[in-house]
Amino acid sequence: MSHHIKEVNTYIVEVPLVNEWKISLYSSKVRQHAIVEVVTEDGVKGYGEASPSPAFMGETAETIKLVNDQYLAPVITGLPLQSLSQIHRNMDQTIYGQSAAKSAIDIAIHDAWGKMENKPVYDLVGGLYREEIPLTYVIGMKSDEEAYEEAVKVMNLGFQTIKIKVGKDPVRDIRVVQSIRQAIKDNKKDVRIRLDGNQGYHVADAIKVIRELEETGDLKSVEQPIEKWNIFGLKEIRSAVKTPIMADELVFSIHDMTNIIKIGCADIVNLKICKVGGIHQAKKIAGMAEAAGMTCTIGSNLELGIGIAASMHVAASTPVIVNPSDFICGAYLHEHDIVQTPMWDLVEDGKIRVSNAAGLGVHLAEDLIK
Ligand SMILES: [Mg+2]
Repeated sequence: MSHHIKEVNTYIVEVPLVNEWKISLYSSKVRQHAIVEVVTEDGVKGYGEASPSPAFMGETAETIKLVNDQYLAPVITGLPLQSLSQIHRNMDQTIYGQSAAKSAIDIAIHDAWGKMENKPVYDLVGGLYREEIPLTYVIGMKSDEEAYEEAVKVMNLGFQTIKIKVGKDPVRDIRVVQSIRQAIKDNKKDVRIRLDGNQGYHVADAIKVIRELEETGDLKSVEQPIEKWNIFGLKEIRSAVKTPIMADELVFSIHDMTNIIKIGCADIVNLKICKVGGIHQAKKIAGMAEAAGMTCTIGSNLELGIGIAASMHVAASTPVIVNPSDFICGAYLHEHDIVQTPMWDLVEDGKIRVSNAAGLGVHLAEDLIK
């Protein structure tokens, strides 16, 4: 058997969303996804995905296709699948950044490697640590009434953590959090609330909103309240509030993680597999977080089944990912998926049950791509 990479093909897939998705950074009704197919010389195929929103990542499905076809595929073709250190070194030396493009390739390689060994991906990257992964449900920017109703619906599905998108208007944000707190109280549920500002606040607003909400209840964490470049501003917020601070847009690489640890500006890291360069790089950042006494969660760029499965395998094999993860949200926000069995089918009682099938454990509905 020859386990060398023969082809790297990138497809662009566009999938409509059920409703318009609104966060402080952007809003959209449809999402583009780059699907990568890696084929080995003996014909094993692996699939990877990245679905960057341009405002968040600085990449699009079109730039991923261009970067993969012209820069990344040529420098990894011919290498053995398992040589991930060499593969990432070649990709990084060829083009700076482009972490979504590199993530999609990395995921496809892990899928093919797992299929070749007839092992689930989690067995290639540390083994099964947890069979079920607790999930967070994400509510986008909505009216108080809509947010209340959605919260009731998902609490009844068994979700124990709700993440609320904020960061546009402090008055509206406080109101919507109180509305969801009311929904929890009215339904006598034990549900925790997380906030995600998506860089929307200034330092003073963030401190004011968090302190005001701390006075009237508990917050599990506040994610990326201010712009990603403002690492010292984030430290100022962390010093001024009791709630744990989570870094998301700030962390694209191990080097970003080094700065977070040195400066001490966050308690938790949101490790998006399709943001940080794939499974190989996510495991390195998780190790750094663990060494620094921090914890992690796995978030979403609204990936479909392939990206969700990659996130699931990392969460299943990485002890430091102790916070409920929201990597499932692409599954309920899109009108349909590109995998045969939707990942939502694995969700029960607010948790995802980890699949033990070979590779990522997903099968592509290939006709959708073609
Ligand atoms: Mg976030």
